[in-house]
Amino acid sequence: PGNSANQIRQQFIDFFVQKAGHAAVPSSPVVPHDDPTLLFTNAGMNQFKDVFLGTGSRDYTRAVDTQKCIRAGGKHNDLDDVGKDSYHHTFFEMLGNWSFGDYFKQEAIDWAWELLTSEEWWGLDPERLHATYFEGDASEGLDPDLEARDMWLKHLPADHVHPGNKKDNFWEMGDTGPCGPCSELHYDRSPDKSGGSLVNADGQDTVVEIWNLVFIQFNRQQSGGLVPLPAKHVDTGMGFERIVRVLQGKTSNYDTDVFTPIFAAIQKVTGAKPYDGGEDTLSNPIDTAYRVIADHIRALTFALSDGAHCGNKGRDAVLRTILRRAVRFGHQTLGVTEPFFYKLVPAVVELMGDVFPEIGPAAEAVAKELEEEEIAFRATLERGIVIFDKALEGLSSGQTLDGETAFDMEATYGFPFSLTQVMADERGLTVDQAGYDQAKAKHAEISKGEGGGADAKASLVELVQQNDLPKTDFTGYGQTEAMGVET
Ligand code: ATP
Ligand code: MG
Ligand code: MG
Ligand code: MG
Repeated sequence: PGNSANQIRQQFIDFFVQKAGHAAVPSSPVVPHDDPTLLFTNAGMNQFKDVFLGTGSRDYTRAVDTQKCIRAGGKHNDLDDVGKDSYHHTFFEMLGNWSFGDYFKQEAIDWAWELLTSEEWWGLDPERLHATYFEGDASEGLDPDLEARDMWLKHLPADHVHPGNKKDNFWEMGDTGPCGPCSELHYDRSPDKSGGSLVNADGQDTVVEIWNLVFIQFNRQQSGGLVPLPAKHVDTGMGFERIVRVLQGKTSNYDTDVFTPIFAAIQKVTGAKPYDGGEDTLSNPIDTAYRVIADHIRALTFALSDGAHCGNKGRDAVLRTILRRAVRFGHQTLGVTEPFFYKLVPAVVELMGDVFPEIGPAAEAVAKELEEEEIAFRATLERGIVIFDKALEGLSSGQTLDGETAFDMEATYGFPFSLTQVMADERGLTVDQAGYDQAKAKHAEISKGEGGGADAKASLVELVQQNDLPKTDFTGYGQTEAMGVET
């Protein structure tokens, strides 16, 4: 079998259709218009939530699909990792096979193993695979999942089957909803296959999680309690970009044909030097900018095509933050002085429009909105960077920028706190989050009272006057502007 990204996606679907009569179903929108508990679709199971809860049904009991997901804001928020590592995206595809009260653990585990390792399918080296199972949690009366452990032991030696805690091996969609113990597969790319101790270790990409098999059995209640569901289900999620990387023998998701055509478009549109992708790619600022921009144009193209917008509340605010993050990397790191981000929409459509036909017809409107957003933000950004540099004068690596200044930058000059944090981080500085929260609370108090807003801190006002900078008329930053956006 060939191993282009498009072929790999299709092979996953074919396997479950041919092997075991799964119905191939389309992705649901990445913007969950009908679920107010959710910012974005964050997993394949979202569209089947009603089936798991027993309140809805489908005319099939087995399904297979690829689901458009965004993990930014909300319970699963990966935005801060994007660009810095090789395997977390804001937007990604989650491949999944599903059983609705039909088959359970045994089949799910055996089919996953067959697809990954059998020579007719993906033929991965079993010595590079590790499986995990839920170790149990006495405080919730949950037993260790020894059933799953024993099933894996039929395929793998004992030192490749690991217990895992609630954080890694008990999957929950959000604060409430369907959930259950899970078993995951991890791929070890270390030269001598010695990476076993790195399973589920953060901050490394030698052993990376590729597939989560969730055994849905409970509903998490508002009160925090677990209630058993009327039936047991299988919900699996495999990171498409991650399996493509593994099957194409790469060390980064970004070295695959999921991303290289977008990198080519970024290079063309920005005139920056090409993506390097060498040994030190994760600490190379130009490469980081490429990864951020490529990731973010995918997220925005898909979210806007599915009917979301940039704005200052809830999911719209998250999208605006993502856009601004991309623009800032283009502006500051790649030195692009003109709006450029919207020009990347056609590259995404060209690459993915066949699989996701909704993005082609939306492309023109999406690009227009992105261009307008970028123009508005650039005005803010230019002012903000000057103010930021001034505020940092005299501070050196390891020191802290005071929270009040960070708040003033946001409230008075429209410079988002999330950007201040990122920019401070890049210079080895931290920002006083507690001080920021306090300043923000105080501001809210004062605004509520006399009908007048709090004035910016004198020193910053002076800074602006000295530099003859115009104040922004931007007043839209509310509670949701910073990245801690919750639904
Ligand atoms: P990780 O521990 O790597 O953050 P996760 O445990 O949060 O992943 P799950 O919720 O189990 O991920 O989702 C199922 C699968 O989706 C993962 O095994 C992984 O392959 C993929 N995945 C999860 N988050 C991302 C992401 N941000 N970008 C790309 N793929 C992802
Ligand atoms: Mg995660
Ligand atoms: Mg994980
Ligand atoms: Mg997981």
